[in-house]
Amino acid sequence: MENKLPKILITGGSGFLGSRIVEELLCDDSPLQPEKIIVFDQQIYKGQLGDKVEFIQGDIRDKGTVEKVCKGMDIVIHCAAIIDWGTRTREEVLSVNVGGTKNIIEACKANHIRNLVFTSSLDAVFSGKPLVNIDEGQPYASSFHTVYCESKVLGEKVVLEAASTDLKTCILRPSDIYGEADPYHMDPLIDMAKSGFYVRLGNGKSKCQHVYVGNMAHAHVLAARALWIDNKTVESQCYFVTDGPGINFFTFFDQIVSGAGYKIFPKNLWLPFRLAYTIGSISEFIAVLWRPIKHYNPKFSRFAVLYTCLDFTFSSQKATDDFDFAPKYNREEALQNTIDYYTIGND
Ligand code: NAD
Repeated sequence: MENKLPKILITGGSGFLGSRIVEELLCDDSPLQPEKIIVFDQQIYKGQLGDKVEFIQGDIRDKGTVEKVCKGMDIVIHCAAIIDWGTRTREEVLSVNVGGTKNIIEACKANHIRNLVFTSSLDAVFSGKPLVNIDEGQPYASSFHTVYCESKVLGEKVVLEAASTDLKTCILRPSDIYGEADPYHMDPLIDMAKSGFYVRLGNGKSKCQHVYVGNMAHAHVLAARALWIDNKTVESQCYFVTDGPGINFFTFFDQIVSGAGYKIFPKNLWLPFRLAYTIGSISEFIAVLWRPIKHYNPKFSRFAVLYTCLDFTFSSQKATDDFDFAPKYNREEALQNTIDYYTIGND
């Protein structure tokens, strides 16, 4: 075990998850107390800066900058990524999610940084088929529904290949992350509630996994600590992270939407899977027809339908066994924090 406190670089540290990792590291009860945290992101960091926290703005694709920000660091938590379901170009997504990861690895090697936590995603194994109670032995999908899914697989491979005695790595695969200021799930659902026509996909029976942003951040702190204290069990391993039982995508988020005071109308409208999938195909086809005039990718896609209508369940057992992961915030508390944030009048 190293005696000193680590200097930690967090890429994507201005984002939803990254900024919460900073907060969790700064808690008095954090299992890994940092000497210093550097937040590296292309967007401005809105958290508190001070003796312990410094912000450097930059692009992960810029090799020179990445190498400079890594100087003197002991641990890198590489969280920056483009999350995208088809609105960005293939080149853009791969250059950030895979090229950026390669830059981080080279910079770790050049700066003799020995510890790297990589934030991947459940999407690394998303296959478009039901996945029930899978574990980390689940193989990667053989074909990809989005470039984002592909980029997470390629990112993981780059990280695993780079692992050596000089660079210990650990990969975390969050499930759907929810919480305060969630940039991906809440706004479309709240917009739909505001429009007065709230429609869900599927039959409400499929289940998927969620994780509160505070718990996902806590998992990163624990994984970084495990590398730092030379817990060999976690080296070159992948971990799914969730903090509760599988539940239907819409049923889960509906409780936040209605808890925050939005009226869901019609109360119980579900678009059957086959119909939704057909509409997804048509909307993608229309987008292709438009392409000579306007390039856009439809939000209502076959991927969106598969993602929300198929079973995709797993547990965090391996993370619990190997680095003592347990949710820091219970589900009730996590939901209440999220509801409070979105409650009408609190924004
Ligand atoms: P986010 O978009 O809030 O955070 C990503 C951050 O990366 C942003 O702050 C963004 O500015 C930064 N970034 C993007 N491109 C960059 C570049 N070229 N250079 C520097 N910084 C760049 O999303 P998030 O939910 O906080 O995602 C964090 C990580 O968690 C990602 O790796 C994502 O793939 C993973 N993840 C998220 C979810 C989820 O439900 N939100 C689920 C699974 C995995």
